[in-house]
Amino acid sequence: MIIGEQKPLTDIIDMVESEGGGRILVVGCRSCVAVCLAGGEKEVAELASSLEEHSASRGMDWTVSTVTLQRQCEKDFDKEIADMVEDSDVVLSLGCGVGAQVLSEVYPTRVVIPGINTSSMGSPEGKGRWKERCAGCGDCTIHLSGGICPIARCSKMLQNGPCGGSQGGKCELSPDRDCAWQLIYDQVRSKGRLDLLEILLPPKDWSKGRDGGSRIVVKEDKR
Ligand code: SF4
Ligand code: SF4
Repeated sequence: MIIGEQKPLTDIIDMVESEGGGRILVVGCRSCVAVCLAGGEKEVAELASSLEEHSASRGMDWTVSTVTLQRQCEKDFDKEIADMVEDSDVVLSLGCGVGAQVLSEVYPTRVVIPGINTSSMGSPEGKGRWKERCAGCGDCTIHLSGGICPIARCSKMLQNGPCGGSQGGKCELSPDRDCAWQLIYDQVRSKGRLDLLEILLPPKDWSKGRDGGSRIVVKEDKR
């Protein structure tokens, strides 16, 4: 799934105001951003309410409509709300970066405001916590690393690790993160494939690379 968090309300309000306010259409998505409690039906309703409160407190005349699509990243679903888009002045997406882009493409004459900061691809890891697992490198080799991705989960993206700094199974860059290569070692050992660690992987094309290891979204109020 794609992981993202809603932007701070002040940032969203600034963007709406920069587009002139008026009739605002908040468009959510029932898929990944609903799972990570950022842009599903509930979050859409909450944001709409916050925008209405802001408008009332400033004596403005914003009206807020809402709709939550099955998948905002699919044009067919976006096309279903043509009338609602037509009747709005501002379109505010609570889909991920992909959904917001597709929505913008479907309505080429409209500016679509992104209400979500999209961070990564990963999985739910307990209540109110999501963890990155894949960096989308386009050349998956996790069968050689115990089913664990060193690109997304090692802080140095080491394909041929470990770096040697791990302590107690934790990454030397951050003691609250597991060392990916400790996890890889544990996994290949449990699969009876320690021989995999002897394979030297050639470098990937790093032109689209990134660093920093797993990015984790934590919502303290949901834990
Ligand atoms: S190697 Fe890692 S980053 Fe690349 S596709 Fe596989 S899981 Fe994703
Ligand atoms: S300690 Fe482990 S996770 Fe951290 S950079 Fe080194 S090999 Fe990667």
